[in-house]
Parts: sequence; structure tokens; C-alpha cells
Amino acid sequence: MSTKGLLVILSGPSGSGKDTVLDCVHKRDIPIQRSVSMTTRAKRDGEIDGVDYYFVTKEYFEKQIKDKNMLESALYSSNYYGTPKGPIDRWLAENKTVVLKIEVQGAEKIKKIYPDSVSIFIMPPSMQILEKRLRGRDTDSEESIRMRMDAALGEMQCAEKYDYVVFNDVLEDTVDDICAIIKAEKFKSSRMKKSVREVIKNA
Ligand code: 5GP
Repeated sequence: MSTKGLLVILSGPSGSGKDTVLDCVHKRDIPIQRSVSMTTRAKRDGEIDGVDYYFVTKEYFEKQIKDKNMLESALYSSNYYGTPKGPIDRWLAENKTVVLKIEVQGAEKIKKIYPDSVSIFIMPPSMQILEKRLRGRDTDSEESIRMRMDAALGEMQCAEKYDYVVFNDVLEDTVDDICAIIKAEKFKSSRMKKSVREVIKNA
């Protein structure tokens, strides 16, 4: 039993496999609540509005920032991405494991707001493999692939600022690693204080 929810920040270059990893983690014995971000980028084939992202116009996004409805936001490959403020605290109060899949600027902002969050950086095994994965998903233009490869180099330089770094080479191993991190974090004594005190109080 933990005293309150756990906020997990997951970052890594576009194409590092964050979504696939999270889908697999959710199918294990670790239920996670994924935050749905807002973005101004175009919807890819197969993506669903309200599930993968809230796809909005630049004007709408800027109004959300102005009205202070975003927990954080960042520009990435010329598009806005951001975390809507509303549900995060409610989910944490409900004791959930909340996962934010965000890029490095957003991760830094969230870590400042929630210092007890856990940040994990997913590394591709190599730049060659990253490029192959980006091309393999067949959803991005050549220009977008180039921008994402350039962004990846900058992002990987921030990996050392994260609490954990996991190389996504063999998917099942990566999923094991992420599950192990989440499980261990939940049992940190700092998160168990309330439960321990309750037992002592009722002794
Ligand atoms: P993609 O276009 O590949 O879906 O996402 C591009 C990058 O934006 C990824 O690194 C992804 O993690 C990041 N991203 C997605 N949602 C958010 C968000 O709400 N805030 C921030 N800061 N980055 C996000």
C-alpha cells in the first residue's frame, strides 16, 4: 500500500519506443494512467483524438497557455505539445500511477513542480536503429524524420539528468526494467510513511 500515487515522467527521442513500452507495461500487473497530451501537430494514420492526443489548432493551444490551463508546454519540431493541468492531481490523489510521456523541456518543468516524481529516459541502442524505427513507422515526412533525428541528439544529452536511463533494445527486457523501477519506487519509505504511521497508531 502506498500513501499516494506515483508520477512517472517518461522521455526519450521520438522513435525510441515509448508508446510500445507503455502499452506492454500496462498489460503487465502494473496498471498505469496515461495522461493525454495536447498538440498542434497533425494526426498520424491510426491516431485517435482524445486517446493518443487532443489535436488542436495553434490558436486554441496558445489560448490554453494564456488561460493557465496547461501544467507545462514545449515546442518540439515546430509544434506545441503540452500536459493539460486538470486531471493529474486528481489521479495522484486516487493513488494511481500516472505516466507523462513528454520531451525533455517539459520533463524538467514537471520535476520542479513534482520533485517526488520519477523520471525515466528511454535510450535507443544506436542512432542507426533510431532512424530505422522512425522510417519503419512510415508516418513522418523526410523533413520530419530529419528534425526528429536532430532533436534526438539534443535530447540524449539530457539523459543524465533523469533518475533512470533504460536502453530499449529488446522490448521485453525494457518492459521488465520499467516495471521494476515503478515497483521499487512505490515501496520507497518516503511514500510509505502514512501507512506505517497508521499501523503504529492502531497498535
Ligand atoms: P510525437 O510527435 O512523436 O508524438 O511526439 C514528439 C515528442 O513530444 C515526444 O518526445 C513526446 O514525448 C513529446 N510530448 C508528447 N506529449 C507531450 C507533452 O504533453 N508535453 C511535452 N513537453 N512533450 C510532449
